[in-house]
Amino acid sequence: MPRSSGRVVIAIDGPAGSGKSTVAKQAAQRLGFDYIDTGAMYRALTLKVLHNGVDVANGPSIKELAAQTVIEQEADLEGADVVTFLDGEDVSCEIRLPDVTGAVSAVSSHPEVRRILVERQRYLTGQAEKGAVIEGRDVGTVVFPDATVKIYLDASPATRTKRRLIDMQASGVDVDLADVADAITTRDKLDSTRVASPLQIAADAHVIDTSNMTIPATVEAVVELAKEAGLAGPEV
Ligand code: C5P
Repeated sequence: MPRSSGRVVIAIDGPAGSGKSTVAKQAAQRLGFDYIDTGAMYRALTLKVLHNGVDVANGPSIKELAAQTVIEQEADLEGADVVTFLDGEDVSCEIRLPDVTGAVSAVSSHPEVRRILVERQRYLTGQAEKGAVIEGRDVGTVVFPDATVKIYLDASPATRTKRRLIDMQASGVDVDLADVADAITTRDKLDSTRVASPLQIAADAHVIDTSNMTIPATVEAVVELAKEAGLAGPEV
C-alpha cells in the first residue's frame, strides 16, 4: 500500500459541485495545511492535450505528453487558494474554461496517464510541511488509501448544478442551467463508471451530504473530524 511519506493527509473526494474545492481550501487554511487540487492537475494536462491537438481517446500519446509535462501547485499570496502551473505558466484560469471541462474526463480515464499524475500528487503531498488536504475523485481510494481522515462530500444533482452555474457565471462564462445540468450528468457518469480509479466512496470515509449545509458548516464538520483524529487542538 503506498504510504503518505509519513505526512498527515486529509483526503476529500466527491462529484463535481459537491463543494469539495471551497471546503478543502478553507479547511486547509484553518488547519495550517497545504491544499492540493488533483482535479486542477488533470485539467492542466487536458489543456496541453487540447493545445497539442492530441486525441483525448489516445491514452499512449497522452501518457507520452504527460511524461514530458511539469505540473506544479503553489499557494497564492494570501494562502487561501492554489495556483496551478503548466510547464512553468500559470494556467489557473484557463483550466476552468468549458473546453477543458468537456474533455477532462476522457483524458483522465486512461490508467497509464493516471499513474503519472498520481505519482506527482504523492510527491507534492510529501512536500507539505505540516500536512495536506488533498481533494479529487480517487484520493482516499487510490492516491492515499492510508490517509489519516477520509471524507466523501456529496450533494443532490440539483444543488450541484446550481452551484456550478453560480461559479461559472461569477467567472464570466455565459451558460444556461440546462447545459450545466447536462455537463454535470455526463461528467458524473464518466467519472464513476470508468474502469481506472472510478469515483467511489472509500469504505472508511465519512460521508457528508452538503445539499442543505452552508460552506462554513461544512468546513466546521471537516475541522471537527480532523480534531477527532488528533490533527488539531481545540483552539483551531
Ligand atoms: O475536481 P474537478 O471538477 O476540477 O475535476 C475535473 C475532472 O478531473 C473530473 O471530472 C475527473 O474527470 C478528473 N479527476 C480525476 N481524478 C481526480 C480528480 C479529478 O479523474 N483525483
